[in-house]
Amino acid sequence: MTDGVPLDRRVYFEVFGCQMNKLDAELMLGVLNEDGYELTDDPQDAGVILYNTCAIREQAENRVFSKLGNLKGLKKSRPDLVIGMLGCGAQNHQHDIFRRYPHVGIVCGPGEFLRLPQLIDQAREEGQVAALDLDKPVRFVRTENLGPRPQHAFVSVMRGCDMACTYCVVPTTRGGEVSRPVSEIIEEADALVASGVKEITLLGQTVNSYGKRLAPGRRIGLQHVLCGLNQMDGLERIHFITSHPRFMNRELVEAMGELDKVCEYLHLPVQSGSDDVLRRMLRSYTMKHYRKIIDDCRQLVPDIAIATDVIVGFCGETEAEFAETVKLLEEVRFNGAYIFKYSERPGTPAAEFADDVPDEVKRERNQILLEIQRRISLELNSESIGQETEVLVEGVSKKDKTRWSGRNRKHQIVVFPIQGDENLVGQLVNVKVRDVTSVVLVGERPGEES
Ligand code: SF4
Repeated sequence: MTDGVPLDRRVYFEVFGCQMNKLDAELMLGVLNEDGYELTDDPQDAGVILYNTCAIREQAENRVFSKLGNLKGLKKSRPDLVIGMLGCGAQNHQHDIFRRYPHVGIVCGPGEFLRLPQLIDQAREEGQVAALDLDKPVRFVRTENLGPRPQHAFVSVMRGCDMACTYCVVPTTRGGEVSRPVSEIIEEADALVASGVKEITLLGQTVNSYGKRLAPGRRIGLQHVLCGLNQMDGLERIHFITSHPRFMNRELVEAMGELDKVCEYLHLPVQSGSDDVLRRMLRSYTMKHYRKIIDDCRQLVPDIAIATDVIVGFCGETEAEFAETVKLLEEVRFNGAYIFKYSERPGTPAAEFADDVPDEVKRERNQILLEIQRRISLELNSESIGQETEVLVEGVSKKDKTRWSGRNRKHQIVVFPIQGDENLVGQLVNVKVRDVTSVVLVGERPGEES
């Protein structure tokens, strides 16, 4: 609501990319709100237009560049308008953005966004300002959940990444890994739970390497954060994303199995089923190691759901190497898989390799994996038919206004009929599964079966 808010305090904001970017956007809105800014959903009605951008995929970056280009006329007609490109895309392209889009006033990377109100003032005075320092730790403890779902909050346990996967821009755009102290995370979670949050997703680029360099001489790991959160009254569910296979250890898997609030869901990107491709990607684990983790997880966390990420068509990927990924999907039978075609990112080590898998081959391999995963997900989901599952209700289904939509502990989407004028948002309810697709479970509350 921006009625009565002066134009220079109205901000239009768009976010692209991963959950970490969404959380950063929330923190940005927090500092802007404190400075008297209000959100508007119309860029024409804004005195400040900000894009928090992603650099992982070319397509997402191009969308932002096209939006920036389209704002040239608006800036010409309203010279006071401040336009900012923020986040990983800004860090990746830096001063090049001012050269290509001279009407942009702020270029700000993921290390300096808490200074946004000052940067806006500076852009108003000086025309253009760049804030790209990644060396100062980003310190914050938020007490309010500004995310779209009042019952759910993301909490970052660390920032940056110490790995060097050859296809990835993140180490360049977000810098090295810095973990937050356990006490700071617990303090933030406490405040969020007091404000009504029931489910927390801990975030980190390699969330399970959490704790590095936190306390010299002592081993602190993600399991310590999970233990602390598990004791918190009012908090019902805990998730963590994204884990790296190299850092999965027995203590963490045991904690998942033992702590009742930690959900039976693990997102463990494999990227390829071929050791040779993994070596070229510098992923620093082998298939043998990866499969061992899966076995341990299934043994220690009964009924765990495991999802993965796969890149097809990475530099030099042969038919035989791709066949190993097919075999992996068939054998491991992931509950879900996010499958991407490799796209070269400038500035990454892989940009020096030949991007030699033709586009049509990438598309074909992508389709093959999607089809395999769709079949496996459908088969695994079908096992839930007739069973009850606990759902945290998120809201009315976007696809069917007569149904509630939420997620169960295995992160599966569950929909069920709305009865009368009930409001179940944020509540935990049991649902009996009647039917499934590869992506959704359809059910009814027991006692309400037709
Ligand atoms: S682990 Fe690899 S893919 Fe993930 S953010 Fe770090 S460098 Fe990128």
